[in-house]
Amino acid sequence: MTTHDPSLQPSPHLRPNDLSATLRLLATTDLHANLLPYDYYADKGDQPYGLARTATLIRAARAEAANVMLFDNGDALQGAPLSDITAQADSGWSGAHPMITAMNHLGYDAAGLGNHEFNFGLDWLMRSLAAARFLITCGNVHSGPDVPGPPLLSPYLLLARQITDRQGGCHPLTVGVLGLVPTQITVWDTHHLAGQLTAHDMVQTARRLVPQMRREAADLVIVLAHTGIDAGPHLPGMENAALPLAAVPGVDAIIAGHSHQVFPEVGNLRQAAVDPEAGTPSGIPAVMAGFRGSHLGVLDLGLVRRGGKWRVQSHRAEARPVVPVRNQAPVPADPTLGAALKTAHDATLALIARRVGHSAAPLHTYLAMAPCSTVVRVVTRTQRAALSRAVAGTAHEGLPILSASAPFQDRRTWRAVAFHRHSRRPAQPSPCRRSLRFSQHALRAAPQRCRTARLAGAGSGLLSPDHSRRH
Ligand SMILES: [Zn+2]
Repeated sequence: MTTHDPSLQPSPHLRPNDLSATLRLLATTDLHANLLPYDYYADKGDQPYGLARTATLIRAARAEAANVMLFDNGDALQGAPLSDITAQADSGWSGAHPMITAMNHLGYDAAGLGNHEFNFGLDWLMRSLAAARFLITCGNVHSGPDVPGPPLLSPYLLLARQITDRQGGCHPLTVGVLGLVPTQITVWDTHHLAGQLTAHDMVQTARRLVPQMRREAADLVIVLAHTGIDAGPHLPGMENAALPLAAVPGVDAIIAGHSHQVFPEVGNLRQAAVDPEAGTPSGIPAVMAGFRGSHLGVLDLGLVRRGGKWRVQSHRAEARPVVPVRNQAPVPADPTLGAALKTAHDATLALIARRVGHSAAPLHTYLAMAPCSTVVRVVTRTQRAALSRAVAGTAHEGLPILSASAPFQDRRTWRAVAFHRHSRRPAQPSPCRRSLRFSQHALRAAPQRCRTARLAGAGSGLLSPDHSRRH
């Protein structure tokens, strides 16, 4: 167990031949393709989030310390229109994924995967990652349906660095980095992954790989754990397993995520074996940096080298917000990142401005949970029209089509409602591009897939996507 030393001063227990140094780990997580502080659904800039703002914190945190490494903990590539241009075949975009461009620009050392990295299929994922100039690890996912298939990516990384001690001396340090993702990926994205991937329990994987990393060269082991901090003992396939992961022998620090929470934070995630002020689940330093760039995780590890071995003696964990004072101005966005992403930003604006249809009547989601929502009807009729076209000329042509949809409702939908209500007139065929844009993304905030099943009679099974909780 390390001590929580807010000053990170050298320990009074240091022996004459001991070396001491501080290693600063910076971490982002669950960025969900929020890069520029721009809300594409509302066509509005100056939003209080996005990696461009976090980048300003990254530069400041780098300037404060001698030994700094920067990591991302997954769910980076999916979740905002800026990423949709890379996944929609008809978007016309052929460049690198904007998030990878941004991470290259900021000089990330390494990244792990999140569950949403699998949302658009393996081909898209591998194509997106190919442009990365940093290393990516995923320890618990293997290719193929059988165990043990080859690993999808590097199961772990051994990053050789030079560390400067408190006296200014330079020493080699090998930082082991293990990436882990919830096994639920094979359920949530079964239509992409069935038969192609096997995901193994995160904690069991760490128990197997951490000793191996130590044997090979790792002076320290950092886990890029795309998982939150749930109470209770480890259960097989546990989705939020940062607590039992921190208890795996040989783990020095946890970079957590997935649950979009902030850790450490006073009063947050207080439970047995978790100290939210010190930032320690199971006594091990940890940090979780919110989501969409709301925070930067800063984890300072006070290291001591004794007898040729480095160990973590003290730590300081912090989640720095991009809005330092509540309801006050956020930190400014990094202008260099804006310049690096201008082409992607312009392409995204063009994509979401495309006209997709016209409604002679205002659409809204008032009482959408009750029958006869006009919005749900638009979705179900669109699905039916798309399927009719898809089966035309096949053996299925002419089959009766049932089309179902859930009344999805989020803050963006309400924004669309407000627009129509305040317009005080029905949407016009032209030039009401703005209302169409609002409606299109209000119906579904992210690109959706239409799934179909052929029913052969009573008792037939209906294949449908899983709708388990995910972040
Ligand atoms: Zn996640």
